[in-house]
Formats: sequence, C-alpha cells, structure tokens
Amino acid sequence: MFVHTSLPSRVVFGPGRLDCLPDEVAAAGFERALVLSTPRQRGLAERLASMLGRRAAGVFDQAVMHVPVETVDAAIAAAERNEADSCVAFGGGSTIGLGKAIALRRGLPYIAIATTYAGSEMTTIWGPTASGAKQTGRDPRVLPRTVIYDPELTLALPPRVSGPSGMNAIAHCVEALYADDANPVTSLMAEEGVRALATSLPVVVATPDDLAARSEALYGAWLAGSSLGAVGMALHHKLCHTLGGTLNVPHAETHTAVLPHAVAYNAPAAPEAMTRVARAVGSDSAAAGLFELAERLGATMALRDLGMKEQDIDAVAELASANAYPNPRPVTPDGMRGVLEAAFHGRRPGDGA
Ligand code: NAD
Repeated sequence: MFVHTSLPSRVVFGPGRLDCLPDEVAAAGFERALVLSTPRQRGLAERLASMLGRRAAGVFDQAVMHVPVETVDAAIAAAERNEADSCVAFGGGSTIGLGKAIALRRGLPYIAIATTYAGSEMTTIWGPTASGAKQTGRDPRVLPRTVIYDPELTLALPPRVSGPSGMNAIAHCVEALYADDANPVTSLMAEEGVRALATSLPVVVATPDDLAARSEALYGAWLAGSSLGAVGMALHHKLCHTLGGTLNVPHAETHTAVLPHAVAYNAPAAPEAMTRVARAVGSDSAAAGLFELAERLGATMALRDLGMKEQDIDAVAELASANAYPNPRPVTPDGMRGVLEAAFHGRRPGDGA
C-alpha cells in the first residue's frame, strides 16, 4: 500500500529550449516579468530580459546563497518599483529559492530556468534565512509555472561546481529510495536519477562542453529534484542541514563528503535501497560506489577541508540526533558521531553493502 502525490509541473527540456521562454511567459499570462539572477549570471539574465521585450520588468541580480530575508525584501521592492506581475528565476538553488520566497510572500508566479543540478525547481520546499537562522517549510504555492531545462546553459558550470552539485542531486535520490513514504513511482525516478548522474558526471567533469553528458546530468537532476519533492528526506539531509546551519560549510560539497558515510550507516537497515543504489552506480557496494564516484569527480572528501573543526563533531552529532528526520536506522548521538568522524577525515567507507 502507498500514497503518491504528483506535484503539478510543466517541464520543457532540451538543448536550445531557452528560445521558448517568450512563448512560455506569454502562455502563463505574465505581462511584466522581473528576471532574477546572481551577480555572476547578470549577463545572461539581461539577454533573457531582452528576449522578453515589453514583457520584461528588468533584472534583479542580487540572489545569494541561503535566501537572506534582506535580499527577498530588496527583490520585492524591485518588483513593485518596476510593476512586475511575475518573475523568471534564472540560475541554481539560490536564485530559484528567491523566486520561491517572492511567490510565497507576494503571490507572484514565476518560471524557473535551472542552471545547476540542485533540483529546487521541482520541490515545494522554501527556506529564507533571517538573522542567521534558516526557516523552512513546504508549500505548493512556491512551485514554478514552468521549468525550462536547457543543457546548453550548464556548459559554463565549472567542473568544481558541477561535481558536488551533481552529488547533491544523487543524495536526493538515495534518500528517496529509503524514505519512509517512498513508493514504487518515486523509487523508479530515484534509481534512474542516480544512474543518469553517475554515468554522466565523470564525463561532465572531464569534458565540460560535452552536450550529451550535460543533457544526461540535467535529466538526472530533474529526476532528483522530483524525488526530493515527492518524499521526505532522512539522516543524510538532516546532518547536512545541521552542518550548514551551524558551521556555514558549503552546501553541495558537504553533501558530497557526508553521503557515503550516511549510506554506510543506513545500509544494514535498508538493503533494497542499497541494492538499487549500488546497481545505479555500477558497484557492489552503495557506500563505496558513491565514495569512488565522488573521488573520480575530484571532490573534497574530508569535512576538515571544508571548514569543520574536530571539536564540532560532538555538538553536530547531538543536534542532528535531536528531532531527527524519519530514518530507516535509529539515529543516535553515538551513531552520528561515527558518521561525522568518518566524513571529517574523509575515510573510505566499508559498509559491506
Ligand atoms: P547556487 O544557486 O548558489 O549557485 C552557485 C554559483 O554558481 C552561483 O554563483 C551561480 O551564479 C553560479 N552558477 C549557477 N549556474 C551556473 C552556470 N550554469 N554556469 C556558471 N555559473 C553558474 O548553487 P546551488 O547548488 O544550485 O543551490 C544551492 C542552494 O539551493 C542552497 O541554499 C540550498 O539550500 C538550496 N536548495 C534548495 C532546495 C529546495 O528544494 N528548496 C533543493 C536543493 C538546494
């Protein structure tokens, strides 16, 4: 028995599909769309605004990581000044997070053009940060009207960003496979997401302009975002949220270093999920296969190299095991200490799965 809720979504996918943005904006009934981006992506955001012509309400280029509430205030002020009735969020999870925050606070609909593998555009999860504390929740009003995935836009994503961003997407899929509300449909998407990402990411990192590999990775990221949006996350996401929230360590890189160890911890309690992950990464062991994949991508595998100090381990272990998310194996402070120690040193996991 299971319950599956499909989130409403319209996806336009393929190289060059950015060209359909004016049609999608018109079909959505947007009259004046404010284009959102980070400062780094301003050039392309301006190109989008000129594609939209009279339907553009300008560019707001101040999107940053963790969606600070001050940035949301400034974006809303820009939308009001320019009489925007909608937005186009062009970028990764930070920019799409800003589109979500504006949708939630002001009811402005938006179209998302995803340029990383984070997957936020497929979820109802929102999370601005006020005074250093991230407040998160789920609300269907933050879903974009349309998501455009154009792999050509990811060609400029540097290998050092592509690898961890793709591993972050794999983490969504892995936890979806052992989620307490997983179902056969979400598991199909999640396993296929791991397979697509695990096969394409090494090519993406070695030859960033390989459009076929970029397309496969973005397809995997779409499935990963859909998995994240459909079910609850577990121990791994809880640990990464705790690490990010308390130590401000980088998001995707932290996911990459922690994932093999969270998987090794859960392996005895989730054998079917482990079989599916191992098959999808082409290994005998889910945890070892994920570790080896991340190493092939040149990822930093030790949390000590990402800004964590050894004395932080105890506090993070306590915090992550208090109010733990549902998880296949009981979450204890000792268990978390073991996971964090292994990830801190970047040890090779030996789960035997
Ligand atoms: P990001 O959006 O912060 O982007 C990282 C950097 O890469 C930025 O400077 C950006 O301008 C640049 N960039 C993005 N795409 C590029 C491209 N194609 N070419 C060149 N540069 C490019 O990073 P992210 O990993 O996509 O997002 C991380 C954030 O998303 C975190 O805050 C995380 O919490 C959030 N997130 C939210 C959800 C959700 O469901 N709400 C899901 C996943 C991640």
